[in-house]
Amino acid sequence: MSDCVVRGGILVQPGGVVRADLAIDGGRISAIGPELPGAKCEIDARELTVFPGVIDDHLHFNEPGRTEWEGAATGSRALAAGGGPAFFDMPLNSTPCTVNRPAFAEKRAALERASIADFALWGGIVPGNLGELAPLAECGVIGFKAFLSDSGLPEFPRADDLTLYEGMREAARLGLPVAVHAESEEITSRLTRRAREAGRTSARDYLDSRPVIAEVEAIHRAALLAREAGCKLHIVHISSGRGVAAALEARALGTDIAIETCAHYLFFTEDDLLRLGAIAKCAPPLRDRAEFDKLWAHVLGGIVDVIASDHSPSHPSMKTGDDFFAIWGGIAGVQSTLAVLLEAGHFQRGLRLERIAELTAGYPARRFALQNKGGIAVGNDADLTLVDMDGTGTLEALWQKHPISPYAGQRFRGTVRRTMLRGATIFNHDEITVKSGGQLLRPKARHIYATSRIHP
Ligand code: ZN
Repeated sequence: MSDCVVRGGILVQPGGVVRADLAIDGGRISAIGPELPGAKCEIDARELTVFPGVIDDHLHFNEPGRTEWEGAATGSRALAAGGGPAFFDMPLNSTPCTVNRPAFAEKRAALERASIADFALWGGIVPGNLGELAPLAECGVIGFKAFLSDSGLPEFPRADDLTLYEGMREAARLGLPVAVHAESEEITSRLTRRAREAGRTSARDYLDSRPVIAEVEAIHRAALLAREAGCKLHIVHISSGRGVAAALEARALGTDIAIETCAHYLFFTEDDLLRLGAIAKCAPPLRDRAEFDKLWAHVLGGIVDVIASDHSPSHPSMKTGDDFFAIWGGIAGVQSTLAVLLEAGHFQRGLRLERIAELTAGYPARRFALQNKGGIAVGNDADLTLVDMDGTGTLEALWQKHPISPYAGQRFRGTVRRTMLRGATIFNHDEITVKSGGQLLRPKARHIYATSRIHP
């Protein structure tokens, strides 16, 4: 007798959707088929659609060190309420930043204590830490993140071109990808200074200081360096249709490139920023309607690989002030990625459910070599999101630390009823049902062969 059967749901698998039972044993999916035998626990999913659990490959929970901004306990609860049993935490906005082995150990311990979702950790590439990348790979980082423009945090300085190139060569040796925040420092910092010196500090002035060309130029430069270094590249939060086109051009030239965008670029435009103000400030910023439409066309055309939240909360006091440049740039949206893809993608634009599963789970699991994650298949972890596709609601219950999000009050069709991690329910009908239990996810062993030769 199985541990559990999820009975009669519509399962979203890579080849399409199929109505079937799903059995779980030891946290893994043990059988999929019609009329599976009874189990110790039965979950009635006859009215529900079952997605592979969301893997959010890009967010900031700020723990340890800045838990007054967020924290893995509150952040992972919000993720779970939005259908996510796994996430990758970025190396910055926590203190210390994840740029060496002790910092990795500290964050890992903090997240094992607090997170209800499984997690992987990004390491950082900053000037001077080249020698730390191999130890970080041994620790199990999922990849390395670098900033091409100012990160907003003095302790995580941007990577100059040589730092980035040498970091990419080392990452290639270690078999790990490099993720970049792609905006030109030359363009953004000088436009920022020019505006502020002229006393122009409105939201419109902020938008004008970070034009699409700053993103396009940085993507081309990062892609060239990655191609030369032989390294896998991951462009985080591409905000514009032209940014995706630049990444596609780089791919055609031979760069092994992953194209990530975020839910907010698919739900809001710069008009929303001008209307909503600070809660919708992010970098790169929200774009105009033409770029928004082009970005959607790339999603619908199967060009975008992965969609994340880039949940980047701050203390509420940092989201106010007259100088829009000085306000914290980051959208807190960890709970809403699947909701956005269902409402704005599936219901409004016909985005197929299996594409949503690929963008939020299948691709990140494959690209980052996660074992037994990312899809509804026998042998995989039973990481599942059960959605009532007929459910409609206004987002009101935010589980994150501070209820500051441009998604609050928005209406979404498709309601997450249950989220499961390795066969255990972590969220069920508006309730978080566990207190901890998240485990570190590491890329498969072949990705760390280079250092395992040194330390057998
Ligand atoms: Zn980010």
